[in-house]
Amino acid sequence: MPTPLPAYLAGYPPSLTEPVAHLLDQGRLGEALRRKYPSAHTLRTDRALYDFVQALRNDFLRNSPQPGKVLFDGKLQSVGRALGTHTRIARVQGGKLKTKHEIRIAAIFREAPPEFLRMIVAHEPAHLREGDHDKAFYALCCHIEPDYHQLEFDTRVYLCHLAAGGTPLWPTAV
Ligand SMILES: [Zn+2]
Repeated sequence: MPTPLPAYLAGYPPSLTEPVAHLLDQGRLGEALRRKYPSAHTLRTDRALYDFVQALRNDFLRNSPQPGKVLFDGKLQSVGRALGTHTRIARVQGGKLKTKHEIRIAAIFREAPPEFLRMIVAHEPAHLREGDHDKAFYALCCHIEPDYHQLEFDTRVYLCHLAAGGTPLWPTAV
């Protein structure tokens, strides 16, 4: 009987989750992920992340509102299922109602493969245009990152690896 997987893959069919549970059981999940994603991205600061989001917005979401703030958020780590968040904050400024968009990416993705970051970064700015997780939203995510669904799955596999006590696979400085 394999150990039950952490909840990050709830909702995926057993044909996808069973091989993951099997690798986890054998202690080979980290190794498999590292083989598939050998390198880490090099964005280290919120400023670099902001520029990355802006570049993506310029390429795909030109007519969407500017994000006010973009940051790696250390608190998102403990929230569990959130890879990132996007919030719209309405504020009164000079007698006018202004909306500020904030994009927060969970801090564990500061040390992650570029593919994972790109998937998360595609997801959150897509909310600048589409509010809900509906068909149009995921179509936009896949337009920005064609491998979106596979990358979201693999990112969740990594979260399972960590939740099961695995060590971070792409540490920057030693
Ligand atoms: Zn979302």
